[in-house]
Amino acid sequence: MNFKSLMAAVALSAVALAGPVAAQDKGTVGIAMPTKSSARWIADGDNIVKVLKDRGYETDLQYADDDIPNQLSQIENMVTKGVKVLVVASIDGTTLSDVLKQAADAGVKVIAYDRLIRDTPNVDYYATFDNFQVGVLQATSIMNGLKGREGKPLNIELFGGSPDDNNAYFFYDGAMSVLQPEIDKGNLVVASGQTGMDKVSTLRWDPAVAQARMDALLSAYYGDKHVDAVLSPYDGLSIGILSSVKGVGYGSGDMKMPVVSGQDAEVPSVKSILAGEQTATIFKDTRELAKVTADMVDALLSGKEPEVNDTKTYNNGVKVVPAYLLKPVIVDKSNWEEVLVGSGYYTKDQIQ
Ligand code: BGC
Repeated sequence: MNFKSLMAAVALSAVALAGPVAAQDKGTVGIAMPTKSSARWIADGDNIVKVLKDRGYETDLQYADDDIPNQLSQIENMVTKGVKVLVVASIDGTTLSDVLKQAADAGVKVIAYDRLIRDTPNVDYYATFDNFQVGVLQATSIMNGLKGREGKPLNIELFGGSPDDNNAYFFYDGAMSVLQPEIDKGNLVVASGQTGMDKVSTLRWDPAVAQARMDALLSAYYGDKHVDAVLSPYDGLSIGILSSVKGVGYGSGDMKMPVVSGQDAEVPSVKSILAGEQTATIFKDTRELAKVTADMVDALLSGKEPEVNDTKTYNNGVKVVPAYLLKPVIVDKSNWEEVLVGSGYYTKDQIQ
């Protein structure tokens, strides 16, 4: 190689090197996630970092251990460090008004991720799943699971998600749109009489809280009754509920397990479904949610309007936040392999 072609090669490799560096000059996206205690949020964080990095962004991903002040200071730090966009899955959707005012003042765009951020004008877009439909599907999985069960009425107990999570109300309302008519017809009875989010919610989606409430329900109302179904809005709670019912003998002898719903298709719950304990879960493909969010980031930073498919449903108390809603899917014994393994979300080895 003569000197001239050597220099050309050097210049070329400099260009090759500069390529990715330039591509990565798109700025940093701050990502605030609630907790690592549930596998779903770990997957969300991993997926969104991956898509954003692939598109040339830097990322600052933080988990807040379900601690509200912790999440506030993480977001404040991101704003101070100069992120271009904030992607926030809130712990308590009502606590972010001050910090998001700071973000808006600094020109930072805000995307509510999965959970609506309430009581502030400073949230620009919302990427999520159709949360009402999640509840509809949870109740549908219960009604399907109850087919062929003897006896009328059948007994059901209801669990709701965290009262500070806007999604929890959508899940509950969606589920009750299917269950209430069955209660009204006398096909189902809530033996405890505990209905409504004020009575059935589970602070911070804590499995131990759900387990303790199920223990209390069983001992107060099911001494001489059988619980046939439990509406559970999240796999972690389902595991707590299932260990409570197993603790008093369900699943052995002639005590049939109740039909139990779930959400997130977390590995222990998919295993539980295959073992004949949990009945079904709701799969929400976090890879798709990450992609929709990254599309929003791209649009916002290039002065375009992000694509949305809902401009009515999510009023946050101050405004209706334009949203993109993805479709949730019921997963049970009959389709887990096709949906979860077929799509590459899990490998078969992770489940079996
Ligand atoms: C999410 C659910 C999740 C729950 C508990 C909700 O906001 O939408 O997917 O099961 O939080 O983490």
